Amino acid sequence: MFVLENVGKKYVTSSNEKWALHEVNLCFPETGLVAIKGHSGSGKSTLLNLLSMLEKPTSGKIFFKGQDLSKLKQKEIENFRAFECSFIYQHFNLYESLTAEENISLPLQVRGLSKSSSSKKAKAILKKYGMEYLGDKKAQVLSGGEKQRVAILRAIVGDPSFLLCDEPTGALDSENEKLIMDSLKKISETKLVVLVSHNPRIIKDYADYVIELEEGKVVYSPKIIPPSKRILRKEKRKSPSWLTTLLKKNFRRDAYKNALSIVAGSIGYCALLLSFGFFSGSQGILEEEAKRSLIYTQGTVSKITEFEIEGSPLSLTQSGRPLLQEAQDLFIETEYEVKNDYSYFLPGYETYSIDGENQGSVYFSPLDDLTLYGREELFSYEGILPSEESFNECIVNRQFANQFSESPIGKRIEVSREVEIEIGENLESTRFKASFLISAVVDEFSFLNSARVYYSHLGLEKHLKTLQFPIISSDLGRDLTAFDVVNEAEGDSPYSGYGYLIFAKNEEEVEKINRQSKSWPNEYGYSFYSEALMIGESFSSLTSAFSQSLIPFLALAIGSFCFVLGALILSSFIEKKKEAAILLALGSRKGEVTSLYQLEAVLCSLLSAFIALTLSFPMSLISNLYLEGKTGLGKLINIPYFSYANIPFFPIIVILLLAVIIGYLASSIPLFFAGKVPLSEELRDE
Ligand code: ADP
Repeated sequence: MFVLENVGKKYVTSSNEKWALHEVNLCFPETGLVAIKGHSGSGKSTLLNLLSMLEKPTSGKIFFKGQDLSKLKQKEIENFRAFECSFIYQHFNLYESLTAEENISLPLQVRGLSKSSSSKKAKAILKKYGMEYLGDKKAQVLSGGEKQRVAILRAIVGDPSFLLCDEPTGALDSENEKLIMDSLKKISETKLVVLVSHNPRIIKDYADYVIELEEGKVVYSPKIIPPSKRILRKEKRKSPSWLTTLLKKNFRRDAYKNALSIVAGSIGYCALLLSFGFFSGSQGILEEEAKRSLIYTQGTVSKITEFEIEGSPLSLTQSGRPLLQEAQDLFIETEYEVKNDYSYFLPGYETYSIDGENQGSVYFSPLDDLTLYGREELFSYEGILPSEESFNECIVNRQFANQFSESPIGKRIEVSREVEIEIGENLESTRFKASFLISAVVDEFSFLNSARVYYSHLGLEKHLKTLQFPIISSDLGRDLTAFDVVNEAEGDSPYSGYGYLIFAKNEEEVEKINRQSKSWPNEYGYSFYSEALMIGESFSSLTSAFSQSLIPFLALAIGSFCFVLGALILSSFIEKKKEAAILLALGSRKGEVTSLYQLEAVLCSLLSAFIALTLSFPMSLISNLYLEGKTGLGKLINIPYFSYANIPFFPIIVILLLAVIIGYLASSIPLFFAGKVPLSEELRDE
């Protein structure tokens, strides 16, 4: 069956190199029991490993059924192990956690037979040899003799071409020895049985042929006629059914380790989901929140003029008020009225006093309607909203109210400032006074907002119509009020407020105006500026920058999970290397064996992802509570489980896919290196 021509096997270790077999020329028959004898270290096991192709010769050629084994491809080698060759070891090499029946059915499953038909065959062979009582017992509870008898059944159940037996009775008592040797002798009537043994009595009683080795060389061999060329067995193999059985067993056995990696993974995936929730939630919430500002619906239209500086590539820009007609034309479609900006008389940031006590400065903003008509549902408030055009009352926001220990409602805000007007040669100053009764406190968006006082634009306008400049009036020969000063001012004069105010109906409208303003003809320099929109935009760029700054931390979290997973899988592989070696010796494909361990990693990773998906929801609620306490913004983290960017179940799909990829990659890398260590070492009997 085998012909060996000048076969040598050299082992190179760090300290020396050694020929375990040297210039071996041998011939093996088709059937019969061939015994190999020799002292320990003479090369017997090495010869078996070469015959089973667990190792490759360093020199020479091995022919099997006339075929040069060195020419076989990886798949053919695996087929060779699965269909032609079977091993029986001194220490049995059974899968300890499987039952006798499962062990026997394993080689059939490796060939791709279904679980049920392999199990049927295993049961049948157990019955045939009178061992059905052992079927349900786990290998770890069997006696030595029983284990070896199970190992023999495992070796012959698939009807291989030959059996390699390495000291099969070395660990047994004489009674079991006889039982096993009788069986092997029987098998050798129809198959080649190669037996390594130290025991001269066994060799004498059972061997048909004897080969003797000494220090890696053949010192005695029988004359056997080389076989004619025959075809190697080739059968179609389906995906093995042992994978799920062993996966379940391994998973249960590695319960503690797997639990550890699942905890690590759940933390990593949870962090990922929460960050994604923050990314998608914070944008939306800040956009929504920014709208909860009373000044959100207003803006200023101005005209930017550029001045070249002579002899310099730089230019200066000046913002001024456009002509009334120009400004009205810009809003012809939206039908918005442009309004005067009276900030020369009541600036946007001004000192004030409360009930006669000076308080420093605060923001003053005009509103076109103090009743908040049309936007009430956005704001909650305390107190009573004043009438549309009252100049005696005002609204303050919560930030303003929070500066005082008690509610400021009912108190008076007073502004009193000296204003100077120069028209032509005439200069006149007067005192601008306003006294607002605080009638309501409105809750605006709380995040980074400043204290503000809201007064009626129309109320101020009416008041300015009554504010006279008598000296200039008499010079001009007509009444001149503060309202006239603003109305008649040149666009670049500070009285003009450098722009016109626009009060939009609601949030959508102001956004529309803002969008439209982008298409205003460039050459005229018109621009629309809204403080609230600007704040909103800076918020969203701030949060997106913040979300992005989380990426390195997430990469670290996921990276460390990969590391933990990889390390745990590697350690289980190293622990179970013997089992991996058994599977390979039974002819499993290398890919299938590695996939057993990879699947374990993928399963851990997937379980972590499921746990993270479940936990992320309560975690997001808790985190939101915490963040709300800190920032005043609720729902900053909002994981869009069911849809994102119009993709249904986006985060769920992505996290599960990621889990599969991470599990696969985290285990592939260590397994790749682990796979480089020869597994034949694992099968050697000590
Ligand atoms: P036997 O089975 O006859 O006891 P082996 O075939 O196991 O002998 O070993 C033959 C020689 O090769 C021994 O000297 C042994 O130390 C050496 N040897 C076997 N396997 C290896 C290996 N993987 N690396 C280095 N030396 C080895």
